[in-house]
Amino acid sequence: MFVRQISNQEIKKEIIAGEYNRSGTLALFTESMVALLSSKNSHHAFMDLVSLMGQTFPLSAPALYIDNIGFHAGVYTMIERTGGGDQEARKILAGKPFSYNKVLVGGHPPIVHHRIEFLLMSTPGMKAVLCINSGIHDDIFREWVKILTPAVVKLMDHEMLMHMAYRDGLTSLLNYRAFEEMLKAEQDRASRYDTTFSVMMIDIDHFKKVNDTFGHPIGDIVLKTLSDKLTDCVRKSDRVFRYGGEEFAVILPHTGLAKAKKLAERIRCTVEKMSFIAGLHVTVSIGLSQYNDRLTSLDLVKQADRGLYLAKNRGRNRIGIMKDIS
Ligand code: GH3
Ligand code: MG
Ligand code: MG
Repeated sequence: MFVRQISNQEIKKEIIAGEYNRSGTLALFTESMVALLSSKNSHHAFMDLVSLMGQTFPLSAPALYIDNIGFHAGVYTMIERTGGGDQEARKILAGKPFSYNKVLVGGHPPIVHHRIEFLLMSTPGMKAVLCINSGIHDDIFREWVKILTPAVVKLMDHEMLMHMAYRDGLTSLLNYRAFEEMLKAEQDRASRYDTTFSVMMIDIDHFKKVNDTFGHPIGDIVLKTLSDKLTDCVRKSDRVFRYGGEEFAVILPHTGLAKAKKLAERIRCTVEKMSFIAGLHVTVSIGLSQYNDRLTSLDLVKQADRGLYLAKNRGRNRIGIMKDIS
């Protein structure tokens, strides 16, 4: 991957600028450790790490490649997509889909030149690779990798454990445990700040027939495809859960019943039009409830469930709302 050779003059300039020095190296090591220990999640930590490397040693044009099973692969890089970034990502991640996170450091985009790879970790489920321009700061980065790899591995292990505890294996959606915890948290927030939120229960109609007609593996594909579609349909601040079997829940912060109903209608129409495999269509029934300070989280679920059963009883492929909870 060549754009142009880095000239000796440029290297000299960087050395004179004091970049290649002990204090810069020490600052990078210390700040990297702080970033790893204080970040909310690995995404933030990796953004911070590449930003730190890039600020301290811009000519190295660092890029971090993270492939973690069950997650989307992630690229954290100073390099422009069109300046060789895409090409390098495809090579290192072996063609897997990835999210591209361009790290902005300031100044001109770095020049890509003679890349070398440092393998931070490689297990059957995870891989982490650091790439830099070779020939300027190789030794410093070799030390960086030795010192920080255990912390990076720990962070990724932790994220994997959280994923296993709070995500559903088939659909990767948040699971029932996550729903219970987030519903309680949303209720506390709404009560403290005097706001509201809505809960949506979505159940696939006659799903047993899908399994019976097309087989269980195709039923699984329907669940997975529908999960992705539901995630696409909602806002970023909304949360979609696999409540159980062929039933999903959505928590809609700061959303009243009228808006929740509009979204439910959009979801219902979208699903109705989907084709999972040739000749396979499904519909969904949806129940809704809205938080007010007289309702507990249990009441909210009960009310949305009653709405769902109303929708089922009225013929399915529709939305049901029950106002009372008795
Ligand atoms: P209704 O319209 O009343 O909701 O009918 P239904 O057939 O969808 O409801 P029922 O509760 O009778 O059946 C749910 C079916 O969902 C039965 C079960 O085998 C299937 N199911 C639950 N979890 C999974 C799963 O993970 N994969 C597959 N393929 N099927 C599942
Ligand atoms: Mg069903
Ligand atoms: Mg059901």
